[in-house]
Amino acid sequence: MVGEKDPVLILDGLRPLYGEGVYPGRSDKRTRPEWMESPFHVLIATVLSQRTRDENTREACDSLFTVLPTIESLSLADAELIEPLIRKAGFPVQKAKAIKRIATIVLEEHAGILPADMDLLLSMPMVGRKTANCVLAYAFNVPAICVDTHVHRISNLLGLVRSDDPDGTEMQLREVVPDHLWKDINALMVRHGQVVCLPRRPRCRECPVRRHCDHGSTTDR
Ligand code: SF4
Repeated sequence: MVGEKDPVLILDGLRPLYGEGVYPGRSDKRTRPEWMESPFHVLIATVLSQRTRDENTREACDSLFTVLPTIESLSLADAELIEPLIRKAGFPVQKAKAIKRIATIVLEEHAGILPADMDLLLSMPMVGRKTANCVLAYAFNVPAICVDTHVHRISNLLGLVRSDDPDGTEMQLREVVPDHLWKDINALMVRHGQVVCLPRRPRCRECPVRRHCDHGSTTDR
């Protein structure tokens, strides 16, 4: 039941399986890339990660940041030059246009420094609450809950929240989870959704937090 769960126990139950993770491309075995140190590059990687798999995001980032490594070069480049570099991540026309525009906004309106501000991030193309929260959490290390499809689904299955949409899930999680654990929610639940709590057929018998889960207590799978 919502409000009766202990989110600390749940997150502690998942931690031994998945560790801290890396975002984006966390399922990739390669080392944490250098560009993860730059908030701007984390934002671009997060835009690229929309509606594609981690390995495609990582490949697109490697291609893009090898040819166009700086904010200035991304701002000056034609979108048509960016498109083939990011094709692996899908939606190249839309994403290339957004990446060029974001680089220009950061240069012209923020002196080349990405702001750690939800409203300013939301004013940029292809940046919604999920992307903005991911950047705040992973690039700026401030408390933020990045609710993607896994976090939304698993939070509801567990009974931590009851919400039909990701924004509602984010708001309810903010109420029940201590803020020093907000970043861990995404890092742990996304991996759980990829490995055990699979979207079509959760492997509840293998799940370390089954005893805390509303859905897990109703199935013999
Ligand atoms: S018990 Fe099943 S539904 Fe609940 S979190 Fe674990 S895998 Fe997902």
